[in-house]
Amino acid sequence: MINTPVNISGLSQSASKTAGDFPQKKQSEKSLFKRLKHKAGEAILKYSMIEDGDRVMVCLSGGKDSYAMLEILMALQKKAPVSFELIAINLDQKQPGFPEQVLPEYLDGLGVEYHIIEQDTYSIVKDKIPEGKTTCGLCSRLRRGILYSFAEKIGANKIALGHHQDDIIETFFLNMFFNGQLKTMPPKLLSDNHKHVVIRPLALCKENDIEAYAQIKKYPIIPCNLCGSQENMQRKVVKRMIRQWEQEKPGRSDLIMRSLQNVVPSHLADSELFDFKKLQIE
Ligand code: SF4
Repeated sequence: MINTPVNISGLSQSASKTAGDFPQKKQSEKSLFKRLKHKAGEAILKYSMIEDGDRVMVCLSGGKDSYAMLEILMALQKKAPVSFELIAINLDQKQPGFPEQVLPEYLDGLGVEYHIIEQDTYSIVKDKIPEGKTTCGLCSRLRRGILYSFAEKIGANKIALGHHQDDIIETFFLNMFFNGQLKTMPPKLLSDNHKHVVIRPLALCKENDIEAYAQIKKYPIIPCNLCGSQENMQRKVVKRMIRQWEQEKPGRSDLIMRSLQNVVPSHLADSELFDFKKLQIE
């Protein structure tokens, strides 16, 4: 396996555009897809997400982000100078009313290799979490464990998740406000069991663009609230806060994202990250 960074975007790094180069007015399917593909290619290159010989397990939840991620990865795969495989998977968690035929029908149409994993995490979550409490934490942990095991079973070395720039920014503030930590979902990380690399190819893509593209494409969206759980309330509050900032000062989200890629440890206050003790006049 070759471990050098690979540019699968079809664009040179110097040609890389900032979000400000793309006006957020009425956009066609073609221009939206071009921008999303460009941003995904930029993230893949910047963080060396995909290498020659990779088997990439693409996790589909049935939400707009994962549909867009699969489509973008398939388009990049066609033009990439390296060879990698894509295997789409969906976890049917047995929530009541889960429309089981939707994803297989969609994926059959795409002609991509795919697997549907059936595991009743819904009953476990309902059993363990008291009525009225948010179930997403336990549900996500169970889902993660199942996905890691399945990746091992099918020999996938990379696991692609559909989180985008806005998810990353929201998680950053949630960690700061509620955990007292400066951290977020990284574009690339080692899985908990150290057997896979988790990648987020949409890390530099904006949710607005994905949303607009998903609407044009009419993806068959499966809602993530079939289980009856409320989406994390704090995340909603933080999302609102960021959207309001963006309205007041367009481009602020991009600046926040840029800050996350431009950290100056000597100008923060973490003594583990920067050796303040050794700082003295020479
Ligand atoms: S909304 Fe339901 S299915 Fe979605 S993560 Fe939360 S508990 Fe799981």
